[in-house]
Amino acid sequence: MAASNKKVESLRFWTAPDHTRLVLGLTSPVEYKVFTLDNPPRLVVDLDNIKFNAKLPEFSSTHKVVSLMRQAPRNKKDLRVVIDLKTSVNAKSFLLKPNADYGHRLVIDLYPKSSRSGKPQRTIKKAPSAVKNNKWIVAIDAGHGGEDPGAKGYKGTREKVVVLEIAKKLAVLVNKQPNMQAYLVRTGDYYIGLRKRMEKARKAKADLFVSIHADAFKDQRARGSSVYVLSNRGASSEAARWLAKSENAADLVGGVSLDDKGGMLASVLLDLSQNHTEDASATVAAEVLKNLKGLGHVHKKQVQRAGFMVLKSPDIPSILVETAFISNRNEEAKLRTPRHQAKVASAILKGIKTYFSHQHLPSAQTIRLAKATYKIKKGDTLSAIAQRHRVSLSSLKKVNSMRSSKIKVGQVIQIPS
Ligand SMILES: [Zn+2]
Repeated sequence: MAASNKKVESLRFWTAPDHTRLVLGLTSPVEYKVFTLDNPPRLVVDLDNIKFNAKLPEFSSTHKVVSLMRQAPRNKKDLRVVIDLKTSVNAKSFLLKPNADYGHRLVIDLYPKSSRSGKPQRTIKKAPSAVKNNKWIVAIDAGHGGEDPGAKGYKGTREKVVVLEIAKKLAVLVNKQPNMQAYLVRTGDYYIGLRKRMEKARKAKADLFVSIHADAFKDQRARGSSVYVLSNRGASSEAARWLAKSENAADLVGGVSLDDKGGMLASVLLDLSQNHTEDASATVAAEVLKNLKGLGHVHKKQVQRAGFMVLKSPDIPSILVETAFISNRNEEAKLRTPRHQAKVASAILKGIKTYFSHQHLPSAQTIRLAKATYKIKKGDTLSAIAQRHRVSLSSLKKVNSMRSSKIKVGQVIQIPS
């Protein structure tokens, strides 16, 4: 076989709380094999018919998983990369296709084995923010991360960077509220699959999911913020459809791990709570948009609807905020300043606060307070039921998360104490 001109051109790594991602930049796709060795723990990557033409990354001595990476030619034409590990790992690998920022890539995710089960660490840690009771838990999702930079500004500002800064500022503000607690879905520069983001929010028992992004458009004049809720029926405009497509493509760019598909969400039953979730999402979106209007220009005066994957939790009200257009020079400059980031965060917080001030207790708590249930019979009206049980109509609606007095025969409702 003729000597190959395939090359490993670059090496990057991203450290997430539960795994480390190694990315080998390639000139073209390769045949490869990944396996682990013990005593001491190592990961070996054998690549066929390729040369090494990159700089080996250096890992800090405090890195939890990797201590050293080295490489050597093998069988004259092949390549072996060895990663010295501090702990045994489960490795998952896949190839990614080129995008605007990167060419072909081989991605290897290293999940430290837990001492107990040898499974990836996903079951060990309970989300810390689920600990405290009687607080509204706000999941704050900074879009993109790691291999997926998101949109890019004229000066090279990256969406993944500014949205994380805004998300962190929002988390601080949320945690200052006596009745709220923030859960940051992403805490650093690494990628999380879109389904995984929803799953993490659910594990944290989130009452609200806020995804933070920065828009980009080919027309540099486009500016202002927009707020989105999920639409299953169709996007409210062509631009919204286009945007949803590009945001949903994040998984292709950032790379989902293999266990990110299906999972818990696939088995979540879509029930009546979905209507409630839709209403609540629209309400909080309108409040947030109102406050962003106070900050300056908004791109769309109405709450927008689009099929964003990340908003699809059936039971957690979810919104997506496009904070500004990073493709607009003016807004790019603003997005970089901590002052403006703080303003955006505070506008979002105000919207969230107003929304929660109109909400009653989370449904789980509500149900615990309910004493009895009643099955609706023919001829019943909600007000008659309220009267019969000596409760107010409003408390009856509240405890059942009802927006109207409509009831159906056979429906079971909670009667408050
Ligand atoms: Zn985005």
